[in-house]
Amino acid sequence: MSYKNFPMVPRVIFGRGSFNQLDEILAAKRLSVNAPFIFLVDDVFKNNNELTSRIPLSYEDRIVFISTKEEPKTYQVDELVEDIILKTKAQPSGIIGIGGGSILDLAKAVSIMLTNEGEAKDYQGWDLVKNPAIYHVGIPTISGTGAEVSRTTVLTGPDKKLGINSDYTPFDQVLLDSELTKDVPKAQWFYTGMDCFIHCVESLKGSYLNAFSQSYGEKSFDLCKEIFLEKTYDASDVDSQEKLMMASWHGGMSIAYSQVGVAHAMSYGLSYLLGTKHGIGNCIVFDHLEEFYSEGVAMFKEMKAKHNIELPQGICAHLSDDEFNIMIDVALGLEPLWENAIGKNWKKTITREKLRGLYQKM
Ligand code: NAD
Ligand code: ZN
Repeated sequence: MSYKNFPMVPRVIFGRGSFNQLDEILAAKRLSVNAPFIFLVDDVFKNNNELTSRIPLSYEDRIVFISTKEEPKTYQVDELVEDIILKTKAQPSGIIGIGGGSILDLAKAVSIMLTNEGEAKDYQGWDLVKNPAIYHVGIPTISGTGAEVSRTTVLTGPDKKLGINSDYTPFDQVLLDSELTKDVPKAQWFYTGMDCFIHCVESLKGSYLNAFSQSYGEKSFDLCKEIFLEKTYDASDVDSQEKLMMASWHGGMSIAYSQVGVAHAMSYGLSYLLGTKHGIGNCIVFDHLEEFYSEGVAMFKEMKAKHNIELPQGICAHLSDDEFNIMIDVALGLEPLWENAIGKNWKKTITREKLRGLYQKM
């Protein structure tokens, strides 16, 4: 047996208001006056002076606001990289992503593509990256995806939605300041939070489970239960914001040494064909997965009811055979997820007809 030797985020700062320390963290990493820091920031903050005025800009540093209407694309990474190369005199000192999973993934991918030849799509897969990325920092503003700790950056390319999984992908520095999450709209809080809950269920119920993953997964699961079931929703509850931030972190750590499962495989299909975003897509799928995760789905339904969340219905109602087949191909292509969820013999039960039947319910 050969065990995987995974890198982890080497530095993390945690605390309400720690965003104000970004300046001192970055100053130590500046390579030269010609080597700027590039801040990739979710454009939801464009008119939020409370945040943007605290982004420490010196010399040629700049902010690039990015829309997260759609999930990150490989061509978008290539365009950002080209723009940075054209506009800067020297290789940047670092890339700082400020936003949710979409922006964190873009920051990771751009930092990799600044030191690796070719196009981002060439690196979708496992361990294809040859050169270390430039210094990159992740600052989540919404909690749940675990993208702040993970070894992947999920991108949609011309022919697949797949991460750039590599030892160079994890951030060099993460800053966890729960205050940045205080204005997340309730529905989005639920969808991205449920991404975390589903990571835990899929990891804890998977055949790849081991004590490493379990210890993180159980902690994250308990935190999700407390936040989404035991507490009453209160947008200004600091304790919940901090706990969800740590649930996200632990959920991400849990899948680092195992895998996700059925909801993720099928939600990638929805995302690829229909552009359904990750958090809500996972919820739409998970709602129909009682046969795979009975307790987890029952708890999810309780959480949904408690927070009055109405999920879209019938999103696959008018799809053609070809369209169903595209989603089924994407989902079935994620073999490790199925193997984790069902076991080595998963192909016996997970047939195209089975997946079509499930998609037709959504
Ligand atoms: P997101 O980044 O798209 O953000 C969701 C929405 O919340 C956006 O509209 C955004 O503008 C808004 N938002 C973010 N912070 C806010 C704030 N503080 N106040 C108000 N609004 C705010 O969504 P997400 O769910 O965080 O991430 C989904 C993405 O993450 C997908 O692309 C998915 O593939 C990826 N993902 C990556 C990993 C990984 O390990 N790399 C894991 C899971 C998911
Ligand atoms: Zn996820």
